[in-house]
Amino acid sequence: MAKILILGSGPAGVSAALYAVRGGVETTVISQGIGALAKAEHIENYYGFADAVSGRELAEAGISGAKRLGVQFVAAEVIGLGMNENLTGFQVQTTDSRFEADSVVLATGAARRQPKLPGLKELEGRGVSYCAVCDAFFYRGKEAAVLGGGEYALHEADTLLPHAAKVHVFTDGSAPEVDFPAAMTLHTEKITAIQGEKRVQGVELAGGKIVPVAGVFVAYGTAGSGDLARKAGAILQENSIAVDRAMATNIPGLFAAGDCTGGLLQVAKAVYEGAVAGLSAVKYVRRSH
Ligand SMILES: Cc1cc2nc3c(=O)[nH]c(=O)nc-3n(C[C@H](O)[C@H](O)[C@H](O)COP(=O)(O)OP(=O)(O)OC[C@H]3O[C@@H](n4cnc5c(N)ncnc54)[C@H](O)[C@@H]3O)c2cc1C
Repeated sequence: MAKILILGSGPAGVSAALYAVRGGVETTVISQGIGALAKAEHIENYYGFADAVSGRELAEAGISGAKRLGVQFVAAEVIGLGMNENLTGFQVQTTDSRFEADSVVLATGAARRQPKLPGLKELEGRGVSYCAVCDAFFYRGKEAAVLGGGEYALHEADTLLPHAAKVHVFTDGSAPEVDFPAAMTLHTEKITAIQGEKRVQGVELAGGKIVPVAGVFVAYGTAGSGDLARKAGAILQENSIAVDRAMATNIPGLFAAGDCTGGLLQVAKAVYEGAVAGLSAVKYVRRSH
């Protein structure tokens, strides 16, 4: 049976799920929490409420409604998104499982702000990468760095390990949240810059020490919308996922909705785009099955 996977259980993801499940397709939502609405104390500009509603109440009501219609919800951190081995569908990697789907809707919320690290933006595409599975191969036999200290950073570092001569993990002044294997070199000092003229040459630490590396993989916190989109090969425009009117990305079968596509960062827009993305995903799986 055809399957649609929706990443994110905010208004965009849940709205997509409602339309997908009502389109008769097995629908699963993977998320690691409510998202932006958890921080919204009062919502007064969304249709249908006589009194203000808290973001949490709105989110929980949305999820209950979707469950009633048969949507499956999985609580997990997504760390990878790409095509399956036969290139016939998608594979979504969480910290402890792998899911397969015929179509995926990315609804993982607003793009994260990048750390303001001198050299990071300037050297993007010239040694600074956001996707180990895409770019690890370029660092075979070279030393490479991963920035971050959680599950996502560990996943990126694990992907690099078989290729790179050495993998350095930089937690940027924070204690590591997971155990990194002894084969990786852990640096817990604060980072002050990414060094390099034409390409990345090293990571500069507070105190001035430079650790020479040929590549830097950014993996702070959890994988954000932009990180997941890049892993799947989707095009970004100014940090938002580029979509057409059907909420389709440039990758067939991959749709995006809500804050991750930019524009008005509001519930009404997320719900609308989720609905369109859910319908488009159903159309896509019907055509391809
Ligand atoms: C303080 C505050 C107040 C606001 N007030 C209003 C208001 O009054 N009116 C209004 O219309 N809008 C308001 N908003 C904006 C509104 O909350 C967002 O526009 C809306 O929630 C966007 O929906 P979304 O589904 O795109 O993303 P989100 O609601 O952010 O949902 C993102 C989902 O993706 C999941 N996710 C992300 N990364 C991963 C990962 N790696 N693995 C697994 N899951 C992941 C999250 O857990 C979450 O479920 C407010 C926002 C904030 C922060």
